[in-house]
Amino acid sequence: MANKENPNTYKKKTNAKRRKKRLFYKRLRRLAVIAVLAVVLALAVKAVVGKKDDSSSSYLPSSQSSSMAPSSSAASDNKPDKGEFATLVNVHHPLEEDFDVTTREIKGTGKLFDVRAADRLEKMLDDAARAGYPMYLVSTYRTIDYQKGLYNNKVNEYLNMGYDQRTAESEAAKWVAIPGTSEHNLGLAADIVSSTWYNSHSDLTQDFEETEHFKWLYENCADYGFILRFPKGKESITEIVYEPWHYRYVGQEVAHYIMENEITLEEFWED
Ligand SMILES: [Zn+2]
Repeated sequence: MANKENPNTYKKKTNAKRRKKRLFYKRLRRLAVIAVLAVVLALAVKAVVGKKDDSSSSYLPSSQSSSMAPSSSAASDNKPDKGEFATLVNVHHPLEEDFDVTTREIKGTGKLFDVRAADRLEKMLDDAARAGYPMYLVSTYRTIDYQKGLYNNKVNEYLNMGYDQRTAESEAAKWVAIPGTSEHNLGLAADIVSSTWYNSHSDLTQDFEETEHFKWLYENCADYGFILRFPKGKESITEIVYEPWHYRYVGQEVAHYIMENEITLEEFWED
């Protein structure tokens, strides 16, 4: 009895099969429509985002006196030359072992900066104070030798814990920049926060971005040739966490280009 099927049940079954098949094709068609819609949507989003990029480039200074005129020029058309200050220093582009720079003290701080750009940093700090935002210079130039000392101490800590040389070095690098790969070794980087903020913080932390002092720095640094070097959202490119306090001198033209296009020094060096 179990093997013999009643023709009605058979018919019912085939009907059910057909229904299933129809349903399957119906679903397949629906999926195809969804896939096509997704592609169209993706293309549309891309077009809009692309337009947005173009429009932001029209905010570049000097190139367009009549900013109302529609601009077809891409950002790269107005890209300034790298000049003498835009040197790229990071873990992939270390300084030469024997790198040297002439520095001088930033007035009344005891901190050293590349002599060619020291007056620009002083002017920025003076103007900020005059505008009601007195700043505190936490760290500027650090010699590669000093960095070496910091780094070797850290490596030794790991060796003492029983790690082998290679592991000790890679672990140490997570805490202290490998000598020659820090912009502070270049003499053109400054960690800047507000005096009052610094008194209430034992370390540099990202909440500095919530201060009016940060806003002033962010909006005005390019006028003095500085950029916010490690911006938020660009961590995958800079490989450094967001640092609202770290400003890097690159020269005025390059600084305006980078800040107005919201890019990083790494991106500026591309192509
Ligand atoms: Zn720094």
